[in-house]
Amino acid sequence: MASLSPRTHAHSNVLSRPDPLQQHPYHNMTSTSSEIEIAAQHLAKAKRIVILTGAGISTAAGIPDFRSPTSGLYAKLAPLKLPFPEAIFHISYFTHTPEPFYAIAKARHPRCLKPTRSHAFLGLLARKGLLHFLFTQNTDGLEENAFVPADKMLAVHGNWKTQRCHKCNTPYPDELMKKAIAMREVPYCLDAKCKGAVKPDVVFFGQSLPAAFDEKEKMVAEADLVIVMGTSLKVAPCSRLPRLAREGVPRILINMESAGDFGTRPEDVQILGSCDDGLEKLADLLGWSDELDSLWAAAAKEEPTDDEEEISLDECINRLVQKNQGKQVSDGHKRMLETHLQSKFAHVLRSS
Ligand SMILES: [Zn+2]
Repeated sequence: MASLSPRTHAHSNVLSRPDPLQQHPYHNMTSTSSEIEIAAQHLAKAKRIVILTGAGISTAAGIPDFRSPTSGLYAKLAPLKLPFPEAIFHISYFTHTPEPFYAIAKARHPRCLKPTRSHAFLGLLARKGLLHFLFTQNTDGLEENAFVPADKMLAVHGNWKTQRCHKCNTPYPDELMKKAIAMREVPYCLDAKCKGAVKPDVVFFGQSLPAAFDEKEKMVAEADLVIVMGTSLKVAPCSRLPRLAREGVPRILINMESAGDFGTRPEDVQILGSCDDGLEKLADLLGWSDELDSLWAAAAKEEPTDDEEEISLDECINRLVQKNQGKQVSDGHKRMLETHLQSKFAHVLRSS
């Protein structure tokens, strides 16, 4: 079994969980209007912009972010009594207990979501020929809906467009997958001898990133401006990308709070608040507001086609809790809980 320690994978391309002990020194900073003006000046001069995005650009589309204390996905998962919240997206857990993932998959599934203004801003940069490359940690595919060309981006954590058996890698038909997600039931490999659970091609914790990551990572050093938006930079290996910007190249962070090593370089600019707000102000200063509006309108035009029963994430979680009442937890669950507690309290055990 893969190690569960977040530090083990710090320099590899295996998706690893955040370090619970990591604290950021700049959390209480606030942004000023002059920072937005400086950011706008950087944007006006830039020709090769590299961008890293995370859940914060999709929250306005209805996807809960992961780490907000009460509204984030991980906080909402508490009733499921997972060994630790991220276990729901850990390949070792999915292997023996895929039910929680499918209980919430419908609420996470991006099929009826619309791009936000932040997605439209990315599309606008691409249209202006300024987007050198986009790394997104999101799996919702909304960047493409907002006209970011596929060859200008990498969905570092995969996406929901395809799926396969997690054991033997046999692809699984879209129609059956759609049905399974709608019914909140686990789809299994069509090979009756295999019996592996089917998983969307989303990269889980403990799995390797797409092979293209190594190659594309080099593009950060080619940037004349790096923008990080809507991510707390806690998940490796994307968390290391901003540090690959060449010395002297401005870096802009647009996020609810400071993140990573932002604030340690003289050219760093931090716009603290929602991505949609920050980008709208930037577009305004740059005289791009009308273009942004019309691109957003075009991107959000398609009506959702979902006519199935719509239930909230809380309700999805509730139903699984009801279903599991009185059920014993599996051995795999116990093992993961033990390993997790050992790694979490290693520092206490060592010093005692
Ligand atoms: Zn299989």
